[in-house]
Amino acid sequence: MVPVSTTVITGFLGSGKTTIISHLIEVEQLQGRQVIFVKNEIGDENIDARLMKDKDVATKELLNGCICCTLVGPFVRAIDELIDQYHPDRIIIEASGVADPAAIALMIDSHPKLHRDGVISIIDVTNFEGYHDLSQTAKNQTKFTDIIVFNKIELADLHTKQVVVGYVRELNDYSPIVESPGGILDPAVAFGLTPTQLCQLDHILDQAGYTSNYAHRNSLPPPSHHLENDGLISFSIKLPAMSQDMLIKFLKSLPGAVYRAKGICYINHKPLLINKVGQRIDLTDVSPSQMPSNKSVLVLIGFRITQYQNKINKLLHQYSHQPQSHPNADD
Ligand SMILES: [Zn+2]
Repeated sequence: MVPVSTTVITGFLGSGKTTIISHLIEVEQLQGRQVIFVKNEIGDENIDARLMKDKDVATKELLNGCICCTLVGPFVRAIDELIDQYHPDRIIIEASGVADPAAIALMIDSHPKLHRDGVISIIDVTNFEGYHDLSQTAKNQTKFTDIIVFNKIELADLHTKQVVVGYVRELNDYSPIVESPGGILDPAVAFGLTPTQLCQLDHILDQAGYTSNYAHRNSLPPPSHHLENDGLISFSIKLPAMSQDMLIKFLKSLPGAVYRAKGICYINHKPLLINKVGQRIDLTDVSPSQMPSNKSVLVLIGFRITQYQNKINKLLHQYSHQPQSHPNADD
């Protein structure tokens, strides 16, 4: 059997991966190609998958861990099952926002049914400055990639863009930088990478010592320990009934260590999609039909944020209309 072309999309928390992938899947489907979407979240709630539900694409969600380290086994099993069941033309993997792309690239190389057709790293140009030196993972995502995509480019001025190009080129002077205005990435750029393009990353992985640590194809590379090293933690909280104003106030008051918050809040029975990256807060109306349940939930991801759980719950009580107890808060 011909190995299935597999594209890995990485990008730090909140870089806008899901929007880009959603568009790429649409284009592939229009051309009659069978695509499988594998999505990994370190949190236990997958907000974006709820929004993907109305798309006719075979999707596998791997939650509550990371496919490059804690979820390697489930990931490999899921790939085998999906290939047997759907015989796809292409697999798109959305790595968790904190995944180590080098580890995923090697895992794909080790899988006999997969052909690595590129690692694409999405960068939120408007927020890169905030986290680029905080996290080794964000650095690795910039380093171990075939293509760098500047996303949210329409929100960035020329100066910001130049600064980010500078940061990126310090870490990576080999991958082309392309832009995805409005979250749209040209499939001709994303898919069908040439052997010359791909061998660049092989070379970089080699130089970084990855391949020498991992000499045997068809056996899994050693798991990465980046989650502990980076101190990245995720937990979710139930949102009580509150007004939009209070929700915004609550989001603004979250500790700086929370890099990313995303969730759904029902305000007057209407679902509102919450996205907070760095200091930027986006609230978007979504259609209730895209929502399988009426649960209001917020996933928080950040640096050693367990210590802030009580504080965050207190803030939530303070800003909500009807303070209520949250049984999961002290887990
Ligand atoms: Zn990992």
